[in-house]
Amino acid sequence: TNADAAGGTAESLRTPIVAVLGHVDHGKTTLLDKIRGSAVTDGEAGAITQHIGATAVPLETVSELAGSLVDPDDFDLPGLLFIDTPGHHSFSTLRSRGGALADIAILVVDVNDGFQPQTIEALDILRRTETPFVVAANKIDTVPGWNPQSDVPIQESYDAQSDRARATLDENLYELIGELSDHDFSADMYWRVQNFANNVGVVPTSAETGEGVPDVLTVLMGLSQRYLKDAMAIDVDGPGAGTVLEVKDQKGFGTAIDVVLYDGTVRSDDTIVVGASGDPIVTDVRALLQPRPLAEIRTESRFEQVDAVSAAAGLKIAAPELDSAMAGAPVRVVRDQPREEVVAAVEEELAAIGVTTQEEGVVVKADTLGSLEAVADALEEAEIPIVRAEVGAVAPRDVTVASTADEEKHETVLAFSVDVLDNAADLAEESGVRIFESDVIYRLVEEYDEFVTERERSQQDAILENISRPARFQLLPDHTFRQNDPAVVGVEVLTGTLKRNARVVDFSGSEPKRIGEVNGIQDQGEDVDQARKGDRVSVAIDGPTVGRQIEEGDELWVGLPEKHAKVLEQELTEDIPADEADALRMYLDKHRRRDPFWGK
Ligand code: GDP
Repeated sequence: TNADAAGGTAESLRTPIVAVLGHVDHGKTTLLDKIRGSAVTDGEAGAITQHIGATAVPLETVSELAGSLVDPDDFDLPGLLFIDTPGHHSFSTLRSRGGALADIAILVVDVNDGFQPQTIEALDILRRTETPFVVAANKIDTVPGWNPQSDVPIQESYDAQSDRARATLDENLYELIGELSDHDFSADMYWRVQNFANNVGVVPTSAETGEGVPDVLTVLMGLSQRYLKDAMAIDVDGPGAGTVLEVKDQKGFGTAIDVVLYDGTVRSDDTIVVGASGDPIVTDVRALLQPRPLAEIRTESRFEQVDAVSAAAGLKIAAPELDSAMAGAPVRVVRDQPREEVVAAVEEELAAIGVTTQEEGVVVKADTLGSLEAVADALEEAEIPIVRAEVGAVAPRDVTVASTADEEKHETVLAFSVDVLDNAADLAEESGVRIFESDVIYRLVEEYDEFVTERERSQQDAILENISRPARFQLLPDHTFRQNDPAVVGVEVLTGTLKRNARVVDFSGSEPKRIGEVNGIQDQGEDVDQARKGDRVSVAIDGPTVGRQIEEGDELWVGLPEKHAKVLEQELTEDIPADEADALRMYLDKHRRRDPFWGK
């Protein structure tokens, strides 16, 4: 720390904040545990510090873990602060001044499984936030014939493998590098990368055995040193700035916020401004809490009160009136600036996290501001409008809003990583509102899409069920069973489906003539509801007399109300059998010869 006497500021390099991203089950949690675990066993007592929501690994410990790969003299940065909640969801939702809260990232990819939807989602976020990252090609120990080597650098482990195991791994890695390149990231094995600004380094790892983990730490330190040094230079004594991770009740203190501090210092007598669902909260810190060191864990409280915390760090802040604070929202210490300016800065940052709502659409609830934005982005891409978007659990009023949607498909709540309150679930059940829940954005959107498609299909089926459909049939010679009241005749259906209650039309003249109505169909003496193309059945027709309005050999049509013909032609041609579509065309032609706009 260099004290600058003239300005009274203390410039210092803070610890870079690291996030772990990747597809579910690819090994994010295991990798974090491995790094923490090795640090605890290998490192000096107290070498790693447990923060709220994060773990700090100091440079000396990184260097011990990385062995020959890291010489602490080569680095100025004090170590690495790993955010404990793995997953790109937490990464994308935790912001600092519009950018990502994490300064650098590890993208974990299972070498056997390759790229998966969340891998791609994570890459997109890394690209958008321009975050430097390293790819951990994980689970190398599952390569057939692999000979595991605990916690060693990858080169050492490589040397211990059979040619076959090595060849299989190489093949998988080659594929992975190809997939990265398909997504416009030029990548190579990390030891071949000269310029990390243009190339992504790939490190083969096993989070289980620890192979390659020293290399991951080395690359992270190297990347940070090279690309983050300027960004890490902060005024440590300046007013603290951070991001809310979580809002929760803290026994003895009321509502408290878990915060990752990325700039300056927060002191126990500070006034802070916190982003909230209403106006920003301005309040005085009651207590700053950090986890006790492992050795002192036996005391009744897991936390100890501290006087000040400097970036980068995770901590709990207890203060009055934090109930409406929002996860993902900014926290600022009021010190050198007037309070109004700090409030304005927080408001501005909140406004920048943009979710556009419309008059009509679905209701969205999410666990943090950033995730809300991420879900909103995904919905926008899928062209699904949003009527209301908020941070927090699904409550009855969300269901009420959803139930008033104009379109049935919008009577839904999409809940991302939040609870559904019991009374909200009950209300949804009563009012027919559908609630979709997921911790994965693309699944939420996918499930909703499927629901809409399914619903549209069943609506279409219902329409088809109730709509008259075209059919053509011919009276068979010598098959008149009754002259009239009703006329009972043998017919063959030429196209389409003849149904009971269909109206019968004669098209042989210049004008279509309404003949009567089918009041019954019999197939070999059995009553049936309908007859398909090719069927020969006897039909009872109310209205005509055989020999007067109709004759044996006549071709007759099922008449369609104009409205039905229009719906069929404009919306359902794809959904009816080909012969019916033909019949429809012929039927429309006949009408349009007389009136070109019939059914338009
Ligand atoms: P996450 O969902 O990405 O956090 O994945 P987890 O860390 O929970 O890992 C998912 C499963 O894969 C767990 O059963 C882990 O034990 C296992 N796993 C993770 N990394 C490795 C690895 O390097 N090798 C092997 N064999 N299994 C692993």
